Amino acid sequence: MNQTIDHIIILGGGTAGWLTANILAAEFDPSSPISITLLESPTTPTIGVGEGTWPSMRSTLLKVGISEQDFISCCGATLKQGTLFTGWRTGGDETYYHPFTLPHGFMDINLAEYWNSGVLGKQSFAQAVTPQFDVCEAGLAPKQLQIPEYAFSLNYGYHLDAGKFAALLRDHALGKLGVKHILADVTHVQSRADGDIDFLLTAEGKLHGDLFVDCSGFRSLLMGEHFGVPTERKDSVLFNDRALAVQVPYSDPNASIATTTRATAHQAGWYWDIGLQHRRGVGAVFSSRHTDEDTMLTALNQYLQTSGHPSGLDSASPRLIKFTPGHRKFFWRRNCVAIGLSAGFIEPLEASALVLVELSARRVAEQLPRNRHQLGTVADRFNAEFKARWDQIIEFLKLHYVLSQRTDTDYWIDHRKPSSVPDDLLAKLEEWRFRCPWHQDERRVDEMFPAASYQYVLYGMEFHSAVELSVRRDAMAKKEKAALLLKEVRQQAAQFTTHLPPHRQLLEQAATVGFASR
Ligand SMILES: Cc1cc2nc3c(=O)[nH]c(=O)nc-3n(C[C@H](O)[C@H](O)[C@H](O)COP(=O)(O)OP(=O)(O)OC[C@H]3O[C@@H](n4cnc5c(N)ncnc54)[C@H](O)[C@@H]3O)c2cc1C
Repeated sequence: MNQTIDHIIILGGGTAGWLTANILAAEFDPSSPISITLLESPTTPTIGVGEGTWPSMRSTLLKVGISEQDFISCCGATLKQGTLFTGWRTGGDETYYHPFTLPHGFMDINLAEYWNSGVLGKQSFAQAVTPQFDVCEAGLAPKQLQIPEYAFSLNYGYHLDAGKFAALLRDHALGKLGVKHILADVTHVQSRADGDIDFLLTAEGKLHGDLFVDCSGFRSLLMGEHFGVPTERKDSVLFNDRALAVQVPYSDPNASIATTTRATAHQAGWYWDIGLQHRRGVGAVFSSRHTDEDTMLTALNQYLQTSGHPSGLDSASPRLIKFTPGHRKFFWRRNCVAIGLSAGFIEPLEASALVLVELSARRVAEQLPRNRHQLGTVADRFNAEFKARWDQIIEFLKLHYVLSQRTDTDYWIDHRKPSSVPDDLLAKLEEWRFRCPWHQDERRVDEMFPAASYQYVLYGMEFHSAVELSVRRDAMAKKEKAALLLKEVRQQAAQFTTHLPPHRQLLEQAATVGFASR
């Protein structure tokens, strides 16, 4: 029997399916025997949410050949410089940033140690170590028009309209990258004698393939239903299992556009607030064990009324999305790999779902063997790598909750119970009481969240690391270096806030004139 991997079938036409199709098709030479076909249901809708990305999306779009101008104009996209958290520590109006730019001099010196020792003054951690704080506060863009596509002054990802993004990816994959497209419902999955998937049955006939990518969303038709790979539930660590999502227009069409995702804590979860060019995407994420839908509808209405949309929910009825936080026990089984919601979903805090799609599809593209006999080795490596990535996402998301001092509801109190905190995180928190995380601690070079992200959350939440700098011989020299870097951050902040354009202005120009060419 022929064991060559020539025909790749992607099941599902949501963001995961079309991103995967683009990434794979951009990798393989069109004159090679490798073909890519995406099959999607004409009747089952996509999830239609997922509006925040990581900076990694810039290199993904560049690699697949989509211009940033087209992307920004087609998807109503805006530039995301990080997340602004409100109310997570005490439930008041206190805020902190998790910006995408690393602390200044991060690879040379751990500025967090100096900030904790009080030698960097009284500014918040993010303001002390990166000019991105001031730029976000001023509502400015992370670059100027003269800076080429996908390049930046300050690191950024995007906010985008999920439906328009999937459509752009589809048109690009079909028009430019030679992906084939079939609209049909899969009614049966047929295995071969060895257990590999042989074909998918639809009303149009049989679709044979050598490798199948399951992007069928929460249904997980191949990995979950066909192979029976169970979900490892994580709701004992991260409780949120519901979301109410709504879209609202800007009250003032010329209002400034937020350049960060706003994540505002409420009594049993948090609200996301994402500014696109023409509307906001707003939602409440919550734990059904701690509150109910009606209470959250009232709370969401109130959030809108107090955040620039006085009419609140008005006649809009938010969509309720239910999910079980967790991920598949395996992501790759025989000749099938699950990518996107079919692989798992935790909650949208820190927007880690699309980046997992990018990373998964890239791994498949890089490591796909030509012959099915070698699939087992690649699958084992993939499973180990992505299990580690899920573990880190869970740990990092939990950090946001475990540092809270809120005592107003059981939700926040339950989040701090040691039984709900992964052992690794408990051990790290103990260590961080006396030293600051740094990039040298990272076990892998490709960690999902760099030590800088841990620092922004820890010190944004006013965690204190009692570091003893004076025991080191070079303490004085390093202290001087830290002071110098701090001064440079202030100078950069002054320059950026003078020269960078308002976010809305840059977007309007980028969508019409475009950035400088690379
Ligand atoms: C509330 C919420 C907020 C989120 N926010 C973010 C965020 O800010 N950032 C982020 O990165 N991610 C976010 N996500 C996750 C993100 O939405 C998803 O990872 C992303 O949309 C990918 O979804 P998908 O393509 O896997 O699934 P879907 O969009 O559900 O697509 C599934 C596809 O499978 C097809 N299909 C299903 N059954 C069949 C069948 N029998 N035959 C043929 N086709 C079939 C469907 O037609 C559809 O095309 C969020 C998720 C939720 C729930």
